[in-house]
Amino acid sequence: MEIFKTTESEVRVYSRSFPVIFNRAKNAHLYTEDGKAYLDFLAGAGSLNYGHNNDILKKALLEYIESDGVSQGLDMFTTAKHDFMEAYKKYILEPRGLDYKMQFTGPTGTNCVEAALKLARKVKGRDTVISFTNGFHGVSLGAVAATGNKHHRGGAGVPLGGVNFMPYDGYLGDDVDTIAMIDKMLSDGSSGIETPAAVIVEAVQGEGGLNAARAEWLQKLEKLCQKHDILLIVDDIQAGNGRTGEFFSFEFAGIKPDIVTVSKSLSAYGLPMALVLFKRELDVWSSGEHNGTFRGNNMAFATATAALETYWKDNSFAEEVKKKAGILNKGLKAISDQFSGQFKVKGRGMMQGIACRDGDLAGKISARAFEKGLIIETAGPDDEVVKCLMPLTISEEDLQKGLDLLKESVEDVMKEDMSQAS
Ligand SMILES: *Cc1c(COP(=O)(O)O)cnc(C)c1O
Repeated sequence: MEIFKTTESEVRVYSRSFPVIFNRAKNAHLYTEDGKAYLDFLAGAGSLNYGHNNDILKKALLEYIESDGVSQGLDMFTTAKHDFMEAYKKYILEPRGLDYKMQFTGPTGTNCVEAALKLARKVKGRDTVISFTNGFHGVSLGAVAATGNKHHRGGAGVPLGGVNFMPYDGYLGDDVDTIAMIDKMLSDGSSGIETPAAVIVEAVQGEGGLNAARAEWLQKLEKLCQKHDILLIVDDIQAGNGRTGEFFSFEFAGIKPDIVTVSKSLSAYGLPMALVLFKRELDVWSSGEHNGTFRGNNMAFATATAALETYWKDNSFAEEVKKKAGILNKGLKAISDQFSGQFKVKGRGMMQGIACRDGDLAGKISARAFEKGLIIETAGPDDEVVKCLMPLTISEEDLQKGLDLLKESVEDVMKEDMSQAS
C-alpha cells in the first residue's frame, strides 16, 4: 500500500474512494488480496458491461493469443479487424439501418471525441461546436473544451475555446423547451452564437449526473441540426454498448446521428479501444490526418467480435438488460419512497441512480456502501448522484443484493444525518 501513497501521483481518483488492493475479479465481483469480496456497481466506469473476465470472451482472447494472432498491427489490415468489422456491420449497423464508415482512433474515449470534433469542423469549415450543460466528453484539450465540469476544465491550463454551451433537456425545468431556445439563438444573426459545425450530446449524461434526455427532445435536436445544416454527434461512449437496454442509447428516439463516438465497453473485456462511426459522405479525411500508434487494438477486436456474436445476434440479451433495468428502477424508487422523495431517481436503463441533497451526503452513502462490500461511485456537478453502473451480465440475485446494501447504506447515513440535525 505504501508505494501508492508515496509514489503514485495525487491525480489518482478511484483508489481514494476504495483504498484496498484488488487482485482478482469475476463478473460483478472484485476481490482483494486478503480475500474480501466486493460487489461492483462501478464496472470500470462503464467499460465492463459484460462483467470482469467473462468466460466466453476470455476464451476468445486466450485462443487469439495462443494462435500468435497479431497483437499490434498499427492500422494495417488484420484478420481480427476484418472479423470485427464484419460482425459490427452484420449485428449492429445493418439491422438498425445505419450505413456508417468506421474510424479506429487511439484507444481512449477522449481520442475518438477529438477525431469526431476535428472531422465535423473539417467537413463544415466552421470553428465552433455546441455542447450541453453537464456534458462530459473527455479530458484532452478538444474534448475538455466541450466538457462542462469546472474541475476538469480547470486542469487544462490554457484557454478552452471553440465551444458554446446550451441548456440540456430539463436543465431549465421540465416545461422549458431548450431546443426552441437554441433555435431562436441560431436563427438570430445578433444572438452572438455562430452557426456551429456540430452539436455534441449524450443521450444520458453519465458523468454529468444521469440526466436522461427525452425522446422528443432528441428528435427535435436532430431536426434543429438539419434545419441549420449542423452535424449531430452523439457521444455514446458510456451510454452505448447495451447500457440503456438497446445497443445505442439513441435508438429509442429513432434518430440517426451523423457521427457517433464509441469506446468504454466496445472491446467488451475492459481492453482499450475506441471507434468513430460516421455517415459515408462525411469521410473527408486524408490519410493519416488523425493518427496514433495504437489504433484498433487487435486483442480487443477478438473479444469485441466474440461479444457481438454472443450477445447481439438476437434480442435476448437486450431483453435481459431491460428486465434488470426494471429491477434497478424498482429498488431505487423504493429508497426514494422510504425517504418521502428526498432522493430523486435519475437515469435510464442500467445507468440509474439517486440524486441526494448534496455531494457530502452522496459521498457518505458511497463510503458506507464500501464498508458493506459494495463499490459504487457518485456523479453530477456536485458529485451528488449515487450512480449504479453494474455489469449488464450481473445475476438478478447479485443485483438485488447490491440494491439491498445500497438501501442499508442510505438508512445508516440518514439515521446519523437526522441525529446530527436534532
Ligand atoms: C468516459 C467518457 C469519455 C472519455 O473516455 P476516456 O476513455 O476516459 O477518455 C467521453 N465521453 C463520455 C460520455 C464518457 O463517459
